[in-house]
Amino acid sequence: MKAGDKDNAARFGLEPREHGRVCYSVPIDFNPFEAAMLLLRPGCECCDKDLPPDAQDARICSFECTFCAGCADGVLAGICPNCGGELLPRPRRPAAKLAANPASTQRVFKPAGCAKLASLA
Ligand SMILES: [Zn+2]
Ligand SMILES: [Zn+2]
Repeated sequence: MKAGDKDNAARFGLEPREHGRVCYSVPIDFNPFEAAMLLLRPGCECCDKDLPPDAQDARICSFECTFCAGCADGVLAGICPNCGGELLPRPRRPAAKLAANPASTQRVFKPAGCAKLASLA
């Protein structure tokens, strides 16, 4: 086996089995943290309000369309204007984890979707 394999296995709490072939239950380059990480977009799509990673009023849908609580609970009535899914509070990432897993800085601002809903209300 390669030199780094044992360390990788230990990182994920796996016991490498050494009976001729190395066998793991997950691929060795699979990083569950990278794979499951939220983008934590920096602002509301409707009003462009800043929503830092520790914001308590950030709302997201399952695609991580991101809105502030004011827009989500107000004009959007809890429904994402892009996909029609539910908007729920976004979990906050502990500050200690942000250094290694920084939030997205890519701002998404699509006021058109929100304006459309507002005109229907
Ligand atoms: Zn907003
Ligand atoms: Zn959505």
